[in-house]
Amino acid sequence: MALTLFNTLGRALQPLEPLESGKIGFYGCGPTVYNYAHIGNLRAYVTHDVLVRTLRRLGFGVTHVMNITDVGHLSGDNDQGDDKMVKSAEERGKTVLEIADFYTQAFFRDTERLNIIRPTVVCKATEHIQDMIGLIRRIEERGFTYFAGGNLYFDIARFPAYRELALLRMDDQKAGARTGVDENKRNPGDFVLWFTKSKFENQALVWDSPWGKGYPGWHIECSAMSIKYLGEQFDIHAGGIDHIPIHHTNEIAQSEAATGKHPWVKYWIHNEFLVLDRGKMSKSSGKFLTLQSLADSGYEPLDYRYFLLGGHYRSQLQFSYPALEGAKNARKSLGDRIRALASQAGSPAGNASAAGSGAAPYLAAFDKALEDDLSTPRALAELWGLLRDQEVKPQDALAAAFDMDRVLGLGLEAEAARHPQNDGDPALAAEIEGLIARRAEAKKAKNYKLADEIRDSLKERGIVLEDSQGGTNWRRI
Ligand code: AMP
Ligand code: ZN
Repeated sequence: MALTLFNTLGRALQPLEPLESGKIGFYGCGPTVYNYAHIGNLRAYVTHDVLVRTLRRLGFGVTHVMNITDVGHLSGDNDQGDDKMVKSAEERGKTVLEIADFYTQAFFRDTERLNIIRPTVVCKATEHIQDMIGLIRRIEERGFTYFAGGNLYFDIARFPAYRELALLRMDDQKAGARTGVDENKRNPGDFVLWFTKSKFENQALVWDSPWGKGYPGWHIECSAMSIKYLGEQFDIHAGGIDHIPIHHTNEIAQSEAATGKHPWVKYWIHNEFLVLDRGKMSKSSGKFLTLQSLADSGYEPLDYRYFLLGGHYRSQLQFSYPALEGAKNARKSLGDRIRALASQAGSPAGNASAAGSGAAPYLAAFDKALEDDLSTPRALAELWGLLRDQEVKPQDALAAAFDMDRVLGLGLEAEAARHPQNDGDPALAAEIEGLIARRAEAKKAKNYKLADEIRDSLKERGIVLEDSQGGTNWRRI
């Protein structure tokens, strides 16, 4: 069976047929780096990660491009409100670039802790202004723009397919008129390609352009950078469902207006939202949960990844601590089971997917679940089925679990290595964990001598420490 994905363009499950055999060009909208990513944003990036890992598992060569928005994103996606970056910099008494740098690093720390594979290309908007200007010129030359009140606008009336992705009707666009219409717009759905009139006296970042000194609108960056790295037509574009009616609709209009090629992107994938029991999570309100706030409450990043995998990306997911606790406990049982298998197996051996292995049916069902529009809940169920099946030889079960983990990304090999001999000695484990914590504190205080002494003393007792992004693990030599 081929991979089937739900394509927002057309609202149907469709088999994936790449533009070029065996290869996938994939663009996922990246973060606006004016604050920490909240756990809802991270749902979008785990979704992209599962997609990329699945594609690679199925044998595709994937070029994954992600942008970093460090200019031009206003608090309303439809050109209204404050500039998110400028406002954040002013509030924190920093420059826009300092803010961008700080939150970009924080973002990648979060994604690493979630075992999200770094995209092939990560591109910053501020480093691609000339590409954006070039694309806007093409749009202008083809007659899709007008200049009014100091800004260059995209004229959606010139682009009849404008509502195709969002399935919007003309009247729906009146929604754009909710809050203080931009008087310069001929149609509320028109959007800015280039601003020269800033709402801020000292707009920090401006560039020369054919339309005057200014800065790009938010949407154009994704078109310019995806086209630069993936070509004028590519396979998959993804983001959260909030992007369907404005951001992605605008991206399509301006890209196809510039190139004259249709469709610009073949498959549009949108993840549903993560919601709190109290409602929507909003980055701009400043009140939201981060990965670090989960860690402060005693949950590891991979507990959160496990929690996310338990829901299908197209279903709304309700976040709650009891639900996260459930994920934490399930992941703990997973680790225990993996360690038990590791101790029975000695070392994982054999080709688990080979015909005849008891694990093969589980692997086949696992692949089928992912091929069916990335059903991670079913994929997880297959992993559990495999681990509970006493008929499957431990080394086959273990090898198959590791194979599945290439997509799930739950760090199962590290789990197995944590205590490969499954010594079942909680007092010893607690002592070692305590020493690991003391060593971490010593390192933080730059007391490397003490840190090394702790490591060496454990080594003399036959226990090695292994440092990784996610923390320190231990195992017996
Ligand atoms: P932003 O940094 O605000 O541009 O958003 C980054 C990504 O997170 C986008 O793909 C959004 O669609 C997505 N997103 C925002 N809020 C949520 C949420 N609560 N649940 C899932 N995805 C979200
Ligand atoms: Zn985008």
